[in-house]
Amino acid sequence: MMSPEISLNVLQNALRSGKISPSEVVEYYAARMDELNPRLNALLSYDKEAALAAAAKADVNLPLGGLPVAIKDNICRKGITTSCASRMLENFHSPYDATAVEKLLAAGAIPFGRANMDEFAMGSSGENSAYGSTQNPADPQHVPGGSSSGSAAAVAAGLIPAALGSDTGGSVRQPASHCGVVGFKPTYGRISRYGLVAFASSLDQIGTLTHCVEDAALLLGILCGHDEKDSTSSSEPVPDFMSGLHDGIKGMRIGLPREYTGGGNAESVSSALRDAVQALQNAGAEICEISLPHAETAVASYYIIACAEASSNLARYDGIRYGHRSDAALDPDALFSLSRAEGFGEEVKRRIILGTYVLSGGYYDAYYARAQKARALVAQDFAKAFTELGVQLILGPVAPTPAPKLHAEDITPLQTYLADIYTVPANLAGLPAISVPTPQNGLPVGVQLLAPHFEEARLLRAAVSLEQSWK
Ligand code: GLN
Repeated sequence: MMSPEISLNVLQNALRSGKISPSEVVEYYAARMDELNPRLNALLSYDKEAALAAAAKADVNLPLGGLPVAIKDNICRKGITTSCASRMLENFHSPYDATAVEKLLAAGAIPFGRANMDEFAMGSSGENSAYGSTQNPADPQHVPGGSSSGSAAAVAAGLIPAALGSDTGGSVRQPASHCGVVGFKPTYGRISRYGLVAFASSLDQIGTLTHCVEDAALLLGILCGHDEKDSTSSSEPVPDFMSGLHDGIKGMRIGLPREYTGGGNAESVSSALRDAVQALQNAGAEICEISLPHAETAVASYYIIACAEASSNLARYDGIRYGHRSDAALDPDALFSLSRAEGFGEEVKRRIILGTYVLSGGYYDAYYARAQKARALVAQDFAKAFTELGVQLILGPVAPTPAPKLHAEDITPLQTYLADIYTVPANLAGLPAISVPTPQNGLPVGVQLLAPHFEEARLLRAAVSLEQSWK
């Protein structure tokens, strides 16, 4: 009865009806990991014995009883290496579980596998991992996207039915789009960030990678909620995301920003978007053109803010308290600089340098302060669309192209940054957004839906309609 694309929902029913046992489920995925992970490099490690021990005790009547979930390697698990795919944290064993992991465990899920990623979640291809790139399961010549490269690839290849990722500027949605799975980023503050290793704290949010929208709703219901250990976590009541999921979208007004349909998109991205418009219209929604006039400032403002916050957050890796410590240092200054020089990869260093620069005296107003103003304008564009223009959701692409080739030498860091144009606005504005796969003959392409703050239920309902129209 098992298959690589089996959903959490179907798996849950099979477990509850006794058609399969939690141990058999773990054996199935472990066998797929053994077979496929050496090539894909989607998981940095997986502990079959620990998963089997958890399976032996699993209560299938719990909300996620017996369901295995891979965890991106920047989300802490007690006693287990949490490396952020960095040499800096190669030997770091977390002393505590992230709140998201605690919640999964309390719901009966079985954390299984540390998912590969771009180092410290900085990147869009998975190639910035200190432990090697991940292959796109749809085509081994291509990247899986990033930074949740391993989470997306592992789900797409059926190494695991679901995974946690993190999304600071698109890192759940973009790899989901490139690998052909569902990637969901909730409203900023919906899921506690306690135990998510900080990259850019005002943008970071944990999200999910799953085979279908219903599975995203199932996980979201468990993961959301206020956490006193994260002062930015929201006290907004958590609705039942499963109820009303199939109620349809008749009469819903969905905005299509004209800034998102310009000439810069690959043909398969434009046609995926046209198909999505058609599918949503067929489901009874009204699609109207809107404008997000500050859309073009989003990437610049994102990279200034994200790098500034990263330079501050990553100052904690000093070679003294924890993380990599250089053997070559003869004095404390050298210990600090050599440990960082040896521990961090090239992209992480670039961001720390950029971030330190934009925060430094004389440049702060010119860069950081202006980026914050641009951020406010980007957020205001969305607020206006949802109020004055009266749209209930916004539709757009996830990325301007399908997955680039692995190790493409002609792509500069700047080009990579610019390709984040459609994903970073949701983070700047703190909005929930989802990437839904579209039918393709070639490389996978997703489309994105965005909703007002805390309207995840509406977002999921529209995403289900989209998904259904293609079944
Ligand atoms: N690609 C973006 C970056 O490199 C997004 C990263 C993320 O969401 N973690 O910053």
